[in-house]
Amino acid sequence: MASPSRILIVGGGIGGIAAALALAKRGLASRVFEKAPEFGEIGYGIQQGPNAYRMLDWLGVMKDLEPQAVFTKNLILIDALTDRELTRIDCGPKFRARYGAPYTVVHRRDLHGALLEACRKRPEIELNTSKELVDFEDRGKSVVARFADGTEAEGRALIGADGIRSRVREIVIGDGHPVPAGHVTYRGVVPQDQIRDPSHFDDMVIWIGPNLHFVQYRLRGGTVMNNVATVVSRRFERGERDHYGGPDELMEVFSRTTPHVQEMLTYVGKDKNWVLHDREPTPGWVKGNVGLLGDAAHPTLQYLAQGACMAIEDAVVLSAKIAAALAGGGALEPALLAYRDERYMRTTRVVVTSRMFGAIIHCDGGTRDLRNWLVSRRDPHDAWEVDWLYKGIPIPG
Ligand SMILES: Cc1cc2nc3c(=O)[nH]c(=O)nc-3n(C[C@H](O)[C@H](O)[C@H](O)COP(=O)(O)OP(=O)(O)OC[C@H]3O[C@@H](n4cnc5c(N)ncnc54)[C@H](O)[C@@H]3O)c2cc1C
Repeated sequence: MASPSRILIVGGGIGGIAAALALAKRGLASRVFEKAPEFGEIGYGIQQGPNAYRMLDWLGVMKDLEPQAVFTKNLILIDALTDRELTRIDCGPKFRARYGAPYTVVHRRDLHGALLEACRKRPEIELNTSKELVDFEDRGKSVVARFADGTEAEGRALIGADGIRSRVREIVIGDGHPVPAGHVTYRGVVPQDQIRDPSHFDDMVIWIGPNLHFVQYRLRGGTVMNNVATVVSRRFERGERDHYGGPDELMEVFSRTTPHVQEMLTYVGKDKNWVLHDREPTPGWVKGNVGLLGDAAHPTLQYLAQGACMAIEDAVVLSAKIAAALAGGGALEPALLAYRDERYMRTTRVVVTSRMFGAIIHCDGGTRDLRNWLVSRRDPHDAWEVDWLYKGIPIPG
């Protein structure tokens, strides 16, 4: 068991490798353990609010990522039952000046790939695949991780960045399975020339309607279009918990939308879907020398497009707390607790606001009339609802 002074990171998703890179930027060594045989991400898009852009810039990856990124001009909400634009956030010069960064969208593989390439260049980082953590033992001055293949690794602390079904969380908090929202998502990426209506090529658009929404934005320098369709399942609400949100329910829920919106359903694959979950926020992310990060700590519905952004912010804050503790010769548990304290309310606000935003975009009847009336009076240059989010956090010294 080499290098017991290193930090052990379980999970090589966006959060885990961002944490390794952030630690390395502060001169700290880590070992990443990913259970899959290869590091990688699924082939769809991801939105990066300006808060995440600033963190990724500090991590040094935006230079490589920018040629692939699309700089979003507007975030637009359209009523899916009428095709009428309801409101927009203008992401132009005023937005950039206020938040110190642009709004960008990227392919997940490009983002993960840029982080991974940066990790590979750092001697402080050891990357391991086919290492599924099954258990760990906190010995006070160190933590020993145990893997499914019978091997062990020892480090100063262990960070669980192992996603929404985290094994580390199961041991640290033990709050069971993530909570299903009853919402189901379908995704698809198609060449840009298959899209008939080019009017929103430079925007991120959400068509919203009763129990549904459809998201569209371009990726990879604008060459492909990312499409995401989501339904709130009535079958789930009726208690049919084993089978809900299938392609038949997707088509049924979208049948009230305009022909234009229904046509866009051809852009998403019907053979695979994502059943959405989050968890009730809890501050119990730290136990001794073990802490949680990203979806393992605070999984959220994607309605603010901030799950990965929060994981990246976590990584930067965590690295600062650990670096300060090690520089002062101190123990790591107080550093992990300080990280948790700094992150808990902000990430909880994202989890709770995402649920509320879901309820607002999916409503019907008079509630929908009121929502449309209210949002159509917004100022496109005043993103007050997400101002706290996009302002971000200072990069800790
Ligand atoms: C439809 C959808 C759209 C989204 N859109 C956005 C968006 O636009 N913007 C945004 O910021 N976020 C978005 N998100 C959220 C985002 O995808 C997640 O929050 C983010 O990927 C979480 O990263 P993570 O590294 O914490 O976890 P994960 O990406 O889940 O990574 C966890 C890693 O740990 C590994 N692992 C698991 N168990 C073990 C184990 N026992 N041992 C070792 N390794 C293990 C896994 O294989 C995986 O590689 C979206 C989510 C969904 C579902």
